[in-house]
Amino acid sequence: MSKEITARSEDYSKWYNDLVLKGSLADYSAVRGCMVIKPYGYALWEGMRDVLDRKFKDTGHQNAYFPLFIPKSFLSKEAAHIEGFAKECAVVTHYRLKNDPETGGVIVDPEAKLEEELIVRPTSETIIWNTYKDWIQSYRDLPLLINQWANVVRWEMRTRLFLRTAEFLWQEGHTAHATAAEAIAETTQMLDIYADFAENYMAMPVIKGVKSPSERFAGAVDTYCIEALMQDGKALQAGTSHFLGQNFAKAFDVKFSNKENKLDYVWATSWGVSTRLVGALVMAHSDDDGLILPPRIAPLQVVIVPIYKGDEQKAKIDEKVLAIVAELKQAGVRVKYDDSDNQRPGWKFAEYEMKGVPVRIAIGARDLENNVAEVARRDTKVKTSLSLDGLTPQISALLEEIQQQMFDKALAYRDSHITPADTFEEFERLLDEKGGFISAHWDGTAETEEQIKDRTKATIRCIPLNNPQENGTCILTGKPSVQRVLFARAY
Ligand code: AMP
Repeated sequence: MSKEITARSEDYSKWYNDLVLKGSLADYSAVRGCMVIKPYGYALWEGMRDVLDRKFKDTGHQNAYFPLFIPKSFLSKEAAHIEGFAKECAVVTHYRLKNDPETGGVIVDPEAKLEEELIVRPTSETIIWNTYKDWIQSYRDLPLLINQWANVVRWEMRTRLFLRTAEFLWQEGHTAHATAAEAIAETTQMLDIYADFAENYMAMPVIKGVKSPSERFAGAVDTYCIEALMQDGKALQAGTSHFLGQNFAKAFDVKFSNKENKLDYVWATSWGVSTRLVGALVMAHSDDDGLILPPRIAPLQVVIVPIYKGDEQKAKIDEKVLAIVAELKQAGVRVKYDDSDNQRPGWKFAEYEMKGVPVRIAIGARDLENNVAEVARRDTKVKTSLSLDGLTPQISALLEEIQQQMFDKALAYRDSHITPADTFEEFERLLDEKGGFISAHWDGTAETEEQIKDRTKATIRCIPLNNPQENGTCILTGKPSVQRVLFARAY
């Protein structure tokens, strides 16, 4: 099984595709840039969704749903927004097909042209703020804390399974507030929720920061982000939270009367994470034998495989294992007993290794006599023999240990890949030889940022929150700078 996966050292990008396809997470589809998410990949997304949804609700947000289509005029109302999204919009122009008598095929009916063209939502600020106009009149209507789970379409030219697709699944939070301070507090609260989720569930350390103006979301005043590091030294933007100021309220004329009975524009935020997180999870932890999933997110945490000859042995193992399964389930462990007889144990081992199931338990007839089981960890491949007495607490503790160790390993890698550079030569050399985040001085201009990107393919990933101030000179122009920012080549 493992022979079918390209080694990371050979071709990292092919390795990633092998894992997604052979790990049964997704398939390519008939539509360019769009993928089919298979049940195992979807289970991963559902697990992420469930945790995040609970966190959103715990902080007072409610789910709602808005239309897939946005009238073209809406999208144009916020100048920066349309400028940013214009290049990647799918547009609906007609609403009917008809038979073509000449070819016998089907064509778009030219008579069924829409009066106003519709955009398939690339993000929903415009349609939502057009709705908020009716929902918000007074300070009593605020804050308005709404989230939507949906699909969006951005006509991406270069796509990659999960990481960048033309259609993707995501959640988008859209909140409205009475003051700038409240909106900023919401923006950072959601960033903290994303960071907590990435670190404590996905075992993926992230750097919280602010984007440079040119990497900002189109229409935002400030874009906050979490940035993760993949095993090949490339960065990945894992989530964003935007402070939108009063931009969308002004574009859609959303005013409220404040406590002093004066009219003011409403303050806004939006924030999102997408199915990109599934790709991040794959790239952050897995190895050349397949996926390695952190227990808190793994759809299946423990698999038990019986090893037997004949019905008599099988019956004895069944009896014991079914009791163990019941006990593990009782303790909240997601466990499966794979006693299907159409595959041999060796095949099953490889399959669960490929799928990244954190713990595999094998029980044979002799194990049963000795009252033990062979317990194998997916992350380290270490096998131990554990007593069947008190197996459940031992497994629960092991799952927690794996979760922690996966995070610690990713953190050690990430931290050893944040390197300062003081000259442009050093900057280029580090990018080529080591990768990771390069901490360097930048003169703060978009022109310099652009030149650095053109010459090295590295972009400013973020200006970390609580960044220490330090006087220095820009690595490209030598102009003065007051802080280092984090550059990296990114997905
Ligand atoms: P944005 O609305 O641009 O701030 O993006 C919100 C989230 O969606 C971020 O976490 C992005 O990393 C992610 N995202 C943006 N574009 C894509 C894409 N084409 N495929 C998958 N995820 C994306």
